[in-house]
Amino acid sequence: MSYVDEVLEKVKAKNPDQPEFLQAVTEVLNSLRPVVDANEEQYRKLAILERITEPDRQIMFRVPWVDDKGQVQVNRGYRVQFNNAIGPYKGGIRLHPSVNLSIIKFLGFEQVFKNSLTTLPIGGGKGGSDFDPKGKSDNEIMKFCQSFMTELYKYIGADTDVPAGDIGTGAREIGFMFGQYKRIRDLYEGVLTGKGLTYGGSLARTEATGYGLLYLTQELMKCHGESMEGKLVAISGSGNVATYAAQKAQQMGAKVVTLSDSTGWIYDPEGIDVALLKEVKEVKRARLSEYAAARPSAEYHDKKDANDHGVWNIKVDIALPCATQNELNLDDAKALVANGVKAVCEGANMPTTLEATEYLQANGVWFVGGKAANAGGVATSALEMSQNSERLSWSFEEVDSKLQGIMVGIYHAIDDAAKKYGKEGDYVAGANIAGFEKVVNAMIAQGVV
Ligand code: NDP
Repeated sequence: MSYVDEVLEKVKAKNPDQPEFLQAVTEVLNSLRPVVDANEEQYRKLAILERITEPDRQIMFRVPWVDDKGQVQVNRGYRVQFNNAIGPYKGGIRLHPSVNLSIIKFLGFEQVFKNSLTTLPIGGGKGGSDFDPKGKSDNEIMKFCQSFMTELYKYIGADTDVPAGDIGTGAREIGFMFGQYKRIRDLYEGVLTGKGLTYGGSLARTEATGYGLLYLTQELMKCHGESMEGKLVAISGSGNVATYAAQKAQQMGAKVVTLSDSTGWIYDPEGIDVALLKEVKEVKRARLSEYAAARPSAEYHDKKDANDHGVWNIKVDIALPCATQNELNLDDAKALVANGVKAVCEGANMPTTLEATEYLQANGVWFVGGKAANAGGVATSALEMSQNSERLSWSFEEVDSKLQGIMVGIYHAIDDAAKKYGKEGDYVAGANIAGFEKVVNAMIAQGVV
């Protein structure tokens, strides 16, 4: 049995109740076969694959807090510190009722390779809680965040582990967590990224994931002799990544015609009005139905069930899934291909199922996975860490131009890695291989730790 198959069996036997984690490990290890086969003896002896699929540590803790009615609530907190071979652990905090250990481990595992691809010195980790921020008052959010940090502070630090935002964790939540960390540790340091601009945040961090996704997509199109001008784009989600992806796509001359949230989706053939979207989502914190109510050209569709991903049935040139994991399945991939989609680039983490990915690739769609395509967020978080370390703030233009350079560099790194191992055009394999090689070289140099 090959070394990859052997380790896949071991990982499955050890983590039978973690489907998302197994999905991520299966996807990564399968695509690493050419590199692993070329170095099988050495990697097997050093147990490289066993070590890279086992987190350094997994922390789980109780998060008690008191709601506005005086009732005590209890959530579960997580931090998985996956691999710090190339730098301090770095990865977001997800606050969503669906959060469990499998999801945090899958995200932490993917983060190791993504962070490596940015070329910046950051290891991989992820955290979160099953706390649902929706419908909570500011006071309740603060109580939760303070309680969460009262345990988490023991494990993080500017040179140890630097969490950031993710689903459900935006500037408000990061602010409350940072305040509590500072209070407990009496230390003003860059322990979290995504901070507000008045206390160590970086310009362009809010826009970074969505903008970065478009910088990479533009380079992909350019290298296939196409431009963004006049292209029709479908985006899912309507949160941070989706909003700024829509904004940058329109700045590049494309027309974004869809968005979604967990209750419904919209089709706006005139092109999304980004100012209205921000007003509805960022200021009023309302549902997408309110966008449609205020915009005559937009159709609103209620979501029939969890598998209704209506946005992928619209005829577009480029699809950018920016909501959550497994939101683009095989049927959606078939609909996209039937409608002549050219490129699919993932803004979210693992939004495309394995079968859908294979179908898109087999049908000649240029497919770039989240590890490469959404790395602009964490790259800019690392730039925030650099600014905090030198106690300086860079201009928006400086950060944005570094981001653009990083995303163009990532596209070429994954393209080159795919070509080097005889997989031209397979950007999923290219991303995994390029990210993996750097981490493994560092692990080997640092001995058995
Ligand atoms: P937000 O919380 O800002 O937005 C998430 C969006 O996805 C919302 O529109 C939300 O709808 C929708 N959504 C979330 N969960 C579900 C679900 N189970 N079913 C359907 N829709 C859902 O998060 P972000 O924009 O920050 O993150 C989106 C994705 O991008 C995630 O996969 C995240 O891990 C990834 N990512 C984010 C980065 C960042 O910098 N923010 C960096 C790299 C990756 P609703 O409001 O109804 O819940």
